Parts: sequence; structure tokens; C-alpha cells
Amino acid sequence: MRASLAGIWMLFVVCSFVDSYVRQPSIDAIHYAISLELTDASNFIAGTTKIQVRIRSESASDMWLDFEDMSIDRSLVGGVERPFSFHDGRPAFEFGRTYSRNEIVLIEVGYHGKPQLGLLSGENRYGGRVVFADNWPSNAHHWFPSIDHPSDKATVSLAVTAPAKYDIVANGRMEQAILLPDNRKRTEWTENRAIPTYCMVFGMAEFSIKNPKATATVPLAWYAYPQDAEVAARKFSRTALILAYFGNLIGPYPYEKLAQVESIIRMGGMENSSAIFYSEASFLGVPVSEDPVAHEIAHQWFGDSVTEADWDDLWLSEGFADDFEALFYEHSRGPEAMTLAMAQYAKSIMEYKPARSAPIVDPRQTDPRKKLNPLKYGKEHGFSLCCAGFWATKNFSRGFGSITGCMKAGIRPAVNSRRLWNRQAGLI
Ligand SMILES: [Zn+2]
Repeated sequence: MRASLAGIWMLFVVCSFVDSYVRQPSIDAIHYAISLELTDASNFIAGTTKIQVRIRSESASDMWLDFEDMSIDRSLVGGVERPFSFHDGRPAFEFGRTYSRNEIVLIEVGYHGKPQLGLLSGENRYGGRVVFADNWPSNAHHWFPSIDHPSDKATVSLAVTAPAKYDIVANGRMEQAILLPDNRKRTEWTENRAIPTYCMVFGMAEFSIKNPKATATVPLAWYAYPQDAEVAARKFSRTALILAYFGNLIGPYPYEKLAQVESIIRMGGMENSSAIFYSEASFLGVPVSEDPVAHEIAHQWFGDSVTEADWDDLWLSEGFADDFEALFYEHSRGPEAMTLAMAQYAKSIMEYKPARSAPIVDPRQTDPRKKLNPLKYGKEHGFSLCCAGFWATKNFSRGFGSITGCMKAGIRPAVNSRRLWNRQAGLI
């Protein structure tokens, strides 16, 4: 038994590493108010982003933001126009005075340009014009200035002005949609829960929008291209069942609503908080596949609500999303579904050579995109189920319970492997 447990310990490198992102310990972004202008004439955008920043040290007099591709037209600090400078490719702002702990600094940046990443503009597969944010892992700062790292979560409001024929979907609750002169429309959404920047999104298209009858405790909506409305109804038909199962197992659903959206994103699904985007390719196939609906919904708790504190802890998002997807299939289809899932994960690990010897938490791999590999999906999935078996609940559930307990209490932290592991091992 000890030898087996030692083998499991080897799956992790338990030390205090963080990824290579340069952090600002004095700075905590707490709210983004993003306002964008879109047109049909080009893929250029004009925007204003106001950022509320809480000071976390005894004093602070400057900070920088992640921001690329855009031309900055103006910058204000505390409502007063102030110059900015670039350091290491990032705009830096001097506050003009010293701010004390817990004081709030308001940074405002006006800008325009054509994002090279993070915002996909073009045509969908039916030739309709669409725009979708595609931020993962750290491309949000190509279309709005931000602390573009999952350790710094914030609330967000998005106001998008675009030709009136388009629908806009985004995180949180829709506040209003106002018709403007020249056949334009301004649509405003607000997310009141702190979320990581990689989940702060909007989508623009001529959608078919369906609100299925309220079988869930949270408002649901499907946003699909009109040609795919029937497919979307089938693809998302078990959403209320999935929400109910995860809600009982983990805790209440964390957000104001759940929109599921057909889009032109690169990945099959992206778990954007309360507005999950799916690739249009995932609407093809007869019969249409339900995957990865359960996985992306599980992310609403794991990844979006409890978020990895740095990219080395990505397994806390992807591994648990896979765990709960498999648990739902076991619950709804029977134990063979779990056996099948385990066999598939084992196969993916064996076919991906580095996964056989590398630890799940692997600081040698510094590119977050390359961390999306069988190490983060299958190996963690196998690991957590083995732990559940070996430790038969007490220590394992202590660590896991610390996550679910947070969510039940409405706390949505950024967590790291070391703390979770120590909790499981009974050290804290
Ligand atoms: Zn995932």
C-alpha cells in the first residue's frame, strides 16, 4: 500500500512554484467596464475600458496593464487625463499621487485598432457575419486592457454597439438593449461574480435564441445560427439534468444564467462563465453529439468559479471538468460509461509519451496552450479516482470539500495545488 501511495505522490511535484507571469502584488483589478463599437465595414474596433483597481499594499503609485495590438487614444487616472509609457511592451500608468491599502484607483483607457488575437471576426459557415471573443489562455488583452492572468479575477460589464440586426450575448445578466440612430444598437450585459479574464467574452451574430421551459433553477438560453436551431435544441436537451446533478453534488450553480452559444471559436467548447461557446463544427454530425456539454458545464464550478491560481494548476480546471463529466455519464448511462471513460483516458495517456513520466503539475512546460494535453485531462482524472479509492474519503474529501465548501459559501477563490494537496494530506 505504501509503495502504491508513493507512486501517486510522484504524479505531482509539490513545491511553491508559480508560472512565469510577472505579477503586481500591490494591484487587484476588481471590475472591468468595457465599451466597444463594432461595424460591418471592417474588423477594426473602438473601445473604452474602465478598470477599478484595489490597492493591496501600504502604498502604490503606479501599475501596468497587459494590452497589445491597439492604439491608445487617451488614458485617465482617477478621472484626470494622464500620460502613460511603455515598459516591456505594456502600458504603464503613474497615478499622480500615492494610494493607500484598500483605496480604489480608476484607470480609463480609450483605444482603437484591429485585434490580432482574442477577437475572431469574419463569416460563419453559412456566410453570416459574426464576432466572437476567444480569449483562452491569455488573449483577452488583445481587445481590452487588463491584468490578463487567472490569479486576478474581477467582475465585468460589457456594452457593445453594433448594427441593430445582430444579437449580442455575453457574461452575466442582460441589462438593456437600446436602439440608436443610424440603425445601431447598444447591448449591455453585467457579470456580478468575479471571473477570470479568459472567460470575459461576448458574441455577435444573427442568432436564433431559444429559452427552454424553466426546468432548471437558472435561466437557460441556446444561441444558434438560425439554420442550426433544431440541432441546438437536441445538443443541449439534457442541460437541466446536468445542472441538477452537478448542483446536488457540488453546490448551487454559480452564475445568473446559462447561455450556450454556437460560434466560430477554435476549440470544440469554451467554458466562458455563464456563456459557454461551442465550435460550429460541433453542431455537425448525425446524430449530433452531446459532447462536450457536460464538460463545459462542469467548468462553471471548476475553472470559472474556483480558478487555477496559475497556469501550472490547470489540472484543477480540466481534470475536475473531466471527472464530473464522467460522473454525469455514469449517473445517466450506468457504470459502463465510467469504465469507458477511464479506458479512453488511459489510452490517451499511453499514446501521449510525455504523460507517462511527467508530473501533472509540470512547471517545465511554460506555455499554457501546451498544458492542454492528456496530462491535464486523463491523468488527473485517473489520479483523483484512485485517491478516492485509496483514501476512502476522509483526507480526499477534506481537500475536495474545501473547494465545494467555498462554493456553497459563495466564495470563489483562485487555488493552487499545494494548498489543495496539503488539505487532502491533513497538513492544514
Ligand atoms: Zn475543459
